[in-house]
Amino acid sequence: AKELLRVNNLEQHFPIKGGLLGRTVNHVKAVDGVTFDIYEGETLSIVGESGCGKSTTGRAILRLDEPTGGEIEFDGEDLLSFNKKKMNKTRKHLQVIFQDPYASINPRQTVRQVLNEAMEIQNVVPKKERNDRIIELMETVGLGPHQADRLPHEFSGGQRQRIGIARALAVNPKLIIADEAVSALDVSIQAQVINLLKKLQREYKLTYLFISHDLGVVRHISDRVIVMYLGKIVEIADKKSLFTNPQHPYTKALLSAIPTTNMEKKKERIILTGDVPSPIDPPQGCRFHTRCPFATDLCKTETPELRTADYMQGGHQAACHYMEEIQSGEHQPTK
Ligand code: SF4
Ligand code: MG
Repeated sequence: AKELLRVNNLEQHFPIKGGLLGRTVNHVKAVDGVTFDIYEGETLSIVGESGCGKSTTGRAILRLDEPTGGEIEFDGEDLLSFNKKKMNKTRKHLQVIFQDPYASINPRQTVRQVLNEAMEIQNVVPKKERNDRIIELMETVGLGPHQADRLPHEFSGGQRQRIGIARALAVNPKLIIADEAVSALDVSIQAQVINLLKKLQREYKLTYLFISHDLGVVRHISDRVIVMYLGKIVEIADKKSLFTNPQHPYTKALLSAIPTTNMEKKKERIILTGDVPSPIDPPQGCRFHTRCPFATDLCKTETPELRTADYMQGGHQAACHYMEEIQSGEHQPTK
């Protein structure tokens, strides 16, 4: 498959102002040198704890916040070079679903008005066909056409998320960025919405960037998974490799916290101590060393690069100095 999106060395350093003159005194390194591709038709997930830079990465791709460094190529074009007009046109191919799609919407707008407005802004469907399209969209996401004239508060959380999906679909997107799109929903509703997203992906050849803190959810939807920690990618792999043969101690800790399925080896529970350090002054060397059970002095000074050990397959990469030795049992926990 061809790359739909290429992100190269993405950097998002937010300035921190301080002092009497309000000068920039420091930076929050929210995203610090992130590189990955998304292939057409796949679901690539980014997981990590809050503050790891996953949402910031999504927002940079959407250019909701202009990145401070790096390159983004969308469908073969340099996205960051687009002027406002071209970017607005491109947004129809680049849609987003948030945790609560209605948080940013006028509560007095009916579903029909919401969907109509989306189509109108992007000028994707001729005016006289829009009503038919609205009905079709509602059916596509599993809502009844009779619900078109209802207001947001008349729907449940799961239904509202379906409306958010319909709104994204209304403009014929290529890439949908879903940021914690099912996180606020009950587990049974989560499964329904994920199944809907999968169905739509097949029908409309959609590509997803699925951002979530929840590996259990990610397991159901992803083709490939990126694990981020403090602004950096620590591991990237196809789903099966990640869940059956995780390499980075942070990934192992996250995985050990979710219930085991029969496809995985029995895991030992790894409890992480301490909070995620501040991204203002991230730890030197491996950013995970303050919480890593395997850390040595080397980890405090040398930054591990993403790489592939000879037993890893299918583009699986991790950034840990000791992954081979941990795998073989040669390197044991140091704390
Ligand atoms: Fe842990 Fe060191 Fe590997 Fe970082 S490089 S994950 S601190 S063992
Ligand atoms: Mg977030």
